[in-house]
Amino acid sequence: MPNGKPAGVRCLNLGEDYRCKIFGLPERPALCDGFKANLDVCGTSREEALQLISILEIETSPT
Ligand code: SF4
Repeated sequence: MPNGKPAGVRCLNLGEDYRCKIFGLPERPALCDGFKANLDVCGTSREEALQLISILEIETSPT
């Protein structure tokens, strides 16, 4: 996404199977490449990860 991915917006590179379509390719953002799965962020399921990320977004929002 040329101007970055806004919070809450699905990444254009995310496939229907929830896999990154550009995994391993040079155009994958460095931030994504450097992210290491962590229980505090990812939880133990997709649903838990979405809840945790929502909390992080609220807690780190500048407004
Ligand atoms: S890893 Fe990065 S580029 Fe790939 S789908 Fe997720 S946010 Fe998009």
